[in-house]
Amino acid sequence: MSAEMGRVVRVAGPVVVAEGLERARLYSLVRVGRRGLVGEVIRLVGDQTVIQVYEETSGLRVGSTVVDTGAPLSVELGPGLIGAIFDGVQRPLPVMAGKPGGPVTEPFVRRGMDLPGLPRDRRWPLAYRVEPGNQVTEGDILLTVSETVAVEHRILVPPGRGGKVVRVGEAEATVTDPVVWLDDGEEPLTMLTRWPVRRRRPVAGRLDPTEPLVTGQRVVDVLFPVAKGGSATIPGGFGTGKTVHEQTLAKYADADIVIFIGCGERGNELAEVLEEFPRLTDPATGAALIERTVIIANTSNMPVAAREASIYTGITIGEYFRDQGYDVALLADSTSRWGEALREVSSRLEEMPGEEGYPAYLPSRLAEFYERSGAVVALGADERRGSVTVVGAVSPPGGDFSEPVTQYSLRLAGTFWALDAELARGRHFPAIHWTRSYSLYDTAGWFDRQVDPSWSEHVVWVQGLLGRAEELEDIVQLLGTDVLAPEERITFAVARLVHEDFLQQSAYDPVDAFCPLNKQLDMLRVIRRFHDLAVKAVAADTPVEKVMGMGVVGEMGRMRSWPHAEAADRSEALIERLEAEVGAS
Ligand code: ADP
Repeated sequence: MSAEMGRVVRVAGPVVVAEGLERARLYSLVRVGRRGLVGEVIRLVGDQTVIQVYEETSGLRVGSTVVDTGAPLSVELGPGLIGAIFDGVQRPLPVMAGKPGGPVTEPFVRRGMDLPGLPRDRRWPLAYRVEPGNQVTEGDILLTVSETVAVEHRILVPPGRGGKVVRVGEAEATVTDPVVWLDDGEEPLTMLTRWPVRRRRPVAGRLDPTEPLVTGQRVVDVLFPVAKGGSATIPGGFGTGKTVHEQTLAKYADADIVIFIGCGERGNELAEVLEEFPRLTDPATGAALIERTVIIANTSNMPVAAREASIYTGITIGEYFRDQGYDVALLADSTSRWGEALREVSSRLEEMPGEEGYPAYLPSRLAEFYERSGAVVALGADERRGSVTVVGAVSPPGGDFSEPVTQYSLRLAGTFWALDAELARGRHFPAIHWTRSYSLYDTAGWFDRQVDPSWSEHVVWVQGLLGRAEELEDIVQLLGTDVLAPEERITFAVARLVHEDFLQQSAYDPVDAFCPLNKQLDMLRVIRRFHDLAVKAVAADTPVEKVMGMGVVGEMGRMRSWPHAEAADRSEALIERLEAEVGAS
């Protein structure tokens, strides 16, 4: 491995130009200056090497040394990831260092500090799955570690290795201790492996993402599901609910591992998230949510280039757990800050600016991120499936969705949750707009098989109802509801009821924050039955006001508070009452 040395010839903010690094390669990791600041080669021009430095560059000057490590920017993978809080280049923030729930201080790492990503001194108890004589190939499980109450960390044969096991190590080991010796003539395997952040990890096969990531959020599961291994984008102006939505997903989505990338939000804002996150409990296990979470944090007082790296660091850790057979949810808040980092570095490079000053490669970089989502068959002899679902929040300036980061994200993600400022102002949460949002995933078959054969039929019904009401909306705006035919007025009124009693769901409600799929369907059934009865009643000349004003209609507003276990019985009872009262009117 080369350890070539060069000199800085120019410093422009986070970008440094060096000469004398003849063997430097694109995306090589370099150390800059006396402090050894971390940087990455981003361009080679003649004998000049352009470096993006992931740390504050003040103090660097022309003539400072630059050392090419010869290795690409990589992450450390192994036990110790879960519960950690890292910066964009995987240095643990002092906050936690393996102490989930510990006190949070202002996120800050000293410059040039060589902090290993994973703790070196911690000894992990190991459960070996192989013994001497076994033949193993890449991706096979060698041993497991109970990393936290929620995660069994599976140590696999790394890509490119394989052979006969000749020896296994101790029952307890640190991440750098040898644990398995193979007869392939190479170094013994340790739990710690490294992977270059900009390269996808190999898999045995890719699967069509058709299984939904169940979120317990009605507007998502019923109208705009995201598939496991798919991707979603959630643009919204300030205060429309991006952060709450991502936290809700972190808490309730049926993912085994959550990776949260906080990218360049204001320092104190992120400190809040960091403080809050470790206190959240996992509704599935009752344990702290951090027991299945990895956090990557970049505040805007950290150097801009580190934000770019954080996205790749996060997704590489996600792929690593996917390969173990887990469903991973990767939540990035916000990709706009990341786009701004690209823009700033690009302008320092004096590149030709594209749309709104973003570099021309903004769409390809965004694509590289979203396209690392996926549902896969992992390498290895057992049939292991895993997935990485990517959810990217976008904070368009002024809430204007026509700006480049929103537009490109829209083209790349399969699910679009459009947060609407007007809904948020009216305290309709989640403020996901029911006609402007969409999902391209074909998850209907899964719901019909796993929940109830009538699931997708109910979805089609409610979509139709909301669509018709939206068409009527224009007329109503102009002329009021009086001009509508009685049946149209019922459609309009029931759509309102769907908005208020079904699509609204408070993240803070002790019962309703999470709604199981069965209960979602029970609620829909009641509303649909009411709609049918109401249409019949007005067709038989019962006045619309009389139907909508019945006491039993108000009961539907209380469905969300039904205890989950009672939802089936109570929905049946309510349908009976509706039949008796509305049906008889
Ligand atoms: P953003 O991240 O888009 O700026 P937040 O996620 O911080 O917005 O949401 C702003 C506020 O809106 C929250 O503090 C909360 O009061 C309210 N809110 C957002 N989503 C929900 C929800 N699902 N349930 C209840 N309240 C919500």
